[in-house]
Amino acid sequence: MSVLVREVRPWGGPLTDMGIVDGVFVSPELVEPGSAVIEGEGRIALPTAINSHVHPDKTMWGESWLSRPPMRELTELIDFDVEARRGLGDTVATRAGRLMRDAVATGTRAMRAHVDVAPVYGLDNVVGTVEAATALSQALDVQVVAFPQLGVMRAPGTADVMRQAMTAGADLVGGLDPWSLDGDAEGQMSVLFSLAHEFDAGIDLHLHDHRDEGALMVRTLAERALAEGLYGRLTISHAFALGEISSDLLVLVIDALLAGGVSLTTCAHGDAPLLPLRELIAAGVPVGLGTDGIRDPWSPYGSPDMVERAWLTAYRLGVSSDEEVADQYRLAVDAASHFLGLAPSRLHMGDPADFMLVRGECPAQIVVDRPPRDLVLRRGEIVAVDGKCLL
Ligand SMILES: [Zn+2]
Repeated sequence: MSVLVREVRPWGGPLTDMGIVDGVFVSPELVEPGSAVIEGEGRIALPTAINSHVHPDKTMWGESWLSRPPMRELTELIDFDVEARRGLGDTVATRAGRLMRDAVATGTRAMRAHVDVAPVYGLDNVVGTVEAATALSQALDVQVVAFPQLGVMRAPGTADVMRQAMTAGADLVGGLDPWSLDGDAEGQMSVLFSLAHEFDAGIDLHLHDHRDEGALMVRTLAERALAEGLYGRLTISHAFALGEISSDLLVLVIDALLAGGVSLTTCAHGDAPLLPLRELIAAGVPVGLGTDGIRDPWSPYGSPDMVERAWLTAYRLGVSSDEEVADQYRLAVDAASHFLGLAPSRLHMGDPADFMLVRGECPAQIVVDRPPRDLVLRRGEIVAVDGKCLL
């Protein structure tokens, strides 16, 4: 299958034609005469994004409005989440599928989904998320993390349900605040690492802890991953502490992250310090961008649009130059491909033809204005038109 995409501006650069054969970019001369043609009409071509941290099983995207009480503590949020889910009308597969289709329509090619696993839920959330992902497999890669939202040690029976989730098709072992929420760091870590070994899987762990104490936990986890032979297979999500520590301590933590091949994800939360992105990226620590929960019992905010998340990150960083604003979308495009095990998507020859066409002036203006996505392609096939997913 071959396609000629005429008169587009890759990353806002000069007008050119792009060729696609068998789902990857090739020189336009290699496209056989008579192949399908897409008229770009001067639109900008941008690679589609990776949402490296999202909770599709929790979402109420497309459901009626949920009023939330004031909540501050993690335990309050967890309790409200369990209660609110009992009143949801649609199934996990329906809600997650709705969110995933809108993710595709706004230009997302892959996501890492943290899916709640606990005795109170059994495998319902994993089964529903996998069902939604399977229906969209032509358009979206979905990795499922078996996420112990209620804790591992504080919710007895969770380790068994996590093992069942891994058997049922979850791709990664999840974790949550082993020290502060679970109160038994060694207990949670031994469950996580033993499941990782048993299923030859990576780990992606939420860590909300702050300041020097939180940074020490990041370092301990990185050292443990290395000692357990899991180089390159641990992701720490949030790691707020790294935005709050001295530059001397940050250097020590970065050394441990690099030694363990540890990656990070950030979501630019409104109430938490930003990761020191400049220092981490300059040092070579892989950092992916995610949305975290989208309109769920925890929070009314967010959308599946990764251009919007790039805008939020740029806004929170306070950057204004074209390059720095556009860099926040680059964070969503390529950084996570390494630790998600995906081919990079940069619009280079040989890359998968995963991209979108947008009317605009330059990538920075697109991040700020977030114009409609006219066309989204996955491996050279059109998967969304005018903001509507075709699957
Ligand atoms: Zn999360």
